[in-house]
Amino acid sequence: MPRCSNPLEERILNLYKSAPIDGAEYYFFTLARSEDGEIIESCYSHFAGFTEEKPRRDLRVASPIRYEVIWRTLNDVGQQPLTIHCSEDAPIWMFLGGHALLASEVAQHLFPHRLKPHPVVIRATGEMVSPELAGEAAERRAPTRKMRMEVFDRDGRRCVICGQSPRNSVQVELEAHHIRPWGMSGLTEMLNLVTLCSACHDGLSPHFDHTLYEHTGADQMRSRGRNLNDYTESVDRYRTHVKALLARELKLGR
Ligand SMILES: [Zn+2]
Ligand SMILES: [Zn+2]
Repeated sequence: MPRCSNPLEERILNLYKSAPIDGAEYYFFTLARSEDGEIIESCYSHFAGFTEEKPRRDLRVASPIRYEVIWRTLNDVGQQPLTIHCSEDAPIWMFLGGHALLASEVAQHLFPHRLKPHPVVIRATGEMVSPELAGEAAERRAPTRKMRMEVFDRDGRRCVICGQSPRNSVQVELEAHHIRPWGMSGLTEMLNLVTLCSACHDGLSPHFDHTLYEHTGADQMRSRGRNLNDYTESVDRYRTHVKALLARELKLGR
């Protein structure tokens, strides 16, 4: 590591050193960008009940973390977090993205809604996002005709459980089924929809069967999300995006 004599450099590098303030509570947040260009702002949280209005959605609240445990775990997998003790340092993290351990005042200042129970929808990949961010996938229960056809095509136009197809028997009727039910914070998205015949659909028990995710590609995406390269890439995408955003705003050259 190069020696640094400049106080500003030192201050920046200090954000990567483990130094919790005694007795202070910390929250674990991550800023990244998906391949689809969506900004992902996630935090470590716990379940806090359900919304009263329909569709029923999970409520989550950010949980304080055990600083040393998370810090060590992230460092062991090569995903060094920043520690942000005061709001003055927060812009450095907002520029760099990635993992951060935020002192509670900082979390309270940046994400007040996350520290209170807030509704989320749950993607097939396990990510939890606000319903507004999920947009149409969260608003529309029935898939469009086009999306239903895409699901059937992906699954070879047959029921993924029994293999029956309308090609073999006119009685077979295919349906697009939500793996995580719509009424359990599920979304109307390709990764959460799978082709079932009406008989298998009626008989499905339990109605939320995780094993069906192997047919939609969600399983593979889940395991990729835990991979270091994917983390690094998603943070790089975030940085590039923020840099472009600022350059445009400040009319800087490319
Ligand atoms: Zn079937
Ligand atoms: Zn269903």
